[in-house]
Amino acid sequence: MAVPQNKISKSRRNNRRAHDALTAANPNECSNCGELKRPHHVCAACGHYDDKEVVALVDEVELDEDDAA
Ligand SMILES: [Zn+2]
Repeated sequence: MAVPQNKISKSRRNNRRAHDALTAANPNECSNCGELKRPHHVCAACGHYDDKEVVALVDEVELDEDDAA
């Protein structure tokens, strides 16, 4: 097993970890429903992108129970 030749001091360890912080998400408001959404992504709440519906939501799709089986 590889073993470090020298101890990494707290200072060097913490300096390395100085760049490890997570950045916060940068949500935009959906132009259709106003819900916060990720930029350049389809709105998860209403399925719209660029004021057009591109994804139909599940509760809007009529499924015929006989065809499913
Ligand atoms: Zn939306």
